[in-house]
Amino acid sequence: MKKLANYIDGVDFAPISNHYINNFNPSTGDVYSLIPDSDERDVEMAYEAAEKAFETWSKSPSEKRFKILNRIAELIDLKNEELALAESIDQGKPIWLAKTEMTRSAQNFRFFATAAMQFNSESHTMEGHAINYTIKSPIGVVGCISPWNLPLYLFSWKIAPALATGNCVVAKPSEITPMTAYLLGEICNEAGLPKGVLNIVHGLGPKVGNAMVSHPNIKAISFTGGTATGKHIASIAAPMFKKLSLELGGKNPNLIFADCDFNKAVKESVRSSFLNQGEICLCGSRILIERSIYEKFKTAFVAEVQTYTVGNPLLDETKIGAIVSQAHFEKVLSYIELAKQEGGNIICGGTVVKPEGLKNGWYISPTVIENLSYDCRCNQEEIFGPVVTLTPFDTEEEALMMANSTPYGLACSVWTENLTKAHRVAGAIQSGIVWINCWLLRDLRTPFGGMKQSGVGREGGWNAMNFFTEQKNVCVKL
Ligand code: NDP
Repeated sequence: MKKLANYIDGVDFAPISNHYINNFNPSTGDVYSLIPDSDERDVEMAYEAAEKAFETWSKSPSEKRFKILNRIAELIDLKNEELALAESIDQGKPIWLAKTEMTRSAQNFRFFATAAMQFNSESHTMEGHAINYTIKSPIGVVGCISPWNLPLYLFSWKIAPALATGNCVVAKPSEITPMTAYLLGEICNEAGLPKGVLNIVHGLGPKVGNAMVSHPNIKAISFTGGTATGKHIASIAAPMFKKLSLELGGKNPNLIFADCDFNKAVKESVRSSFLNQGEICLCGSRILIERSIYEKFKTAFVAEVQTYTVGNPLLDETKIGAIVSQAHFEKVLSYIELAKQEGGNIICGGTVVKPEGLKNGWYISPTVIENLSYDCRCNQEEIFGPVVTLTPFDTEEEALMMANSTPYGLACSVWTENLTKAHRVAGAIQSGIVWINCWLLRDLRTPFGGMKQSGVGREGGWNAMNFFTEQKNVCVKL
């Protein structure tokens, strides 16, 4: 069985413990590879390699960083099929979606490669008697920790700006989906990334992630994952005065007003609920619908959901693949049970699916629930699976009250043809990202992140580049 290795100082290393963790294929439920069960000793090795590489990399011309990161992007594009297959097998997502994500991972590298060429210092003059200039320097060795839902996409979203700004990186993918991060090591060598600039340590969050967060010389942590983990990380990093970027959970509302473009709102709301099995932090999981169109919307929504086929992720016609792990599969099912106890009506799905030849895989049919109060647990807690609730509202105020009622504030989508209302609602919604008459339309230059318990800080564009730098202002009296 294939044994994955850590990527340290440009070389594949077995974990020092020589212990491995089973890596499951969620579509079959079988173990298909082994992942290093690394610990703080491997993290230390990775840190030392990064520290050694920092002197040269941090002083390298931006054009060199641009060329190498751009080459990584080209290689990801060239290997799109191979990487997409690896991602689909590892994560359970449909292969067509994995291909799109590989393209977007390449775009992350390309975007931040060009950002390296454009990133500049600022200068402020004080009416002719002084001038300030702000130097932006790389921080040093930084840590990037990413989750299992969009493995290479979110891994590259952090690593690319960290490298573009001249930092050296110790990175950890989720131990549930390590495969494309492992393959990225080979790509970095092929692209000529100097040894030690990027180091990838595989293993469990409480061991490897914890060792990174508590390492005294890893000076910044960029983390994407669950809110509980983010809270734990903050409790370790804050007293050490580390720079911290946290992209956490969400419980995102879609607000459907009666004056929306009905067909588009239905189609996009279904997509926003079930893309990637509902395992995207930006998924709309609470559909709030103006009462006058509630029944019509519900009927059309369920009809659209029923066109979503669940099954083998490697088949092109599959819309919904496998749930990422047995533990997550059980968690999602437990929320469907909870919804029943909370008085919900399952109007579609809610069942375990056993596709032909894949009886031991983890599949759940797309589930639509109504008749739940806006403040019950199923409407307040992140389920992160193919489960969505429908709730009617009577007024804009009530829709906003429900939308803003959760501890999260990551994203929302608003559906109305009334421009004034769209802007008013966008202003009143407590979330870092508002989509009007669309969903998941991403421009990499825009700030990305959440309010409340959905995170701290913003990624994307100059936000990410600034996060990975120390800024020093120099004031010169003329
Ligand atoms: P987790 O918080 O469980 O894990 C995220 C990463 O942190 C993994 O690499 C994990 O390792 C690691 N980790 C776990 N424990 C620790 C620890 N004590 N110290 C340091 N690192 C640790 O999240 P999931 O992987 O379950 O991802 C799903 C969550 O991510 C959802 O809540 C989702 O909303 C959120 N998310 C947020 C996004 C955003 O941009 N706001 C985007 C995508 C997802 P391991 O897996 O090996 O345990």
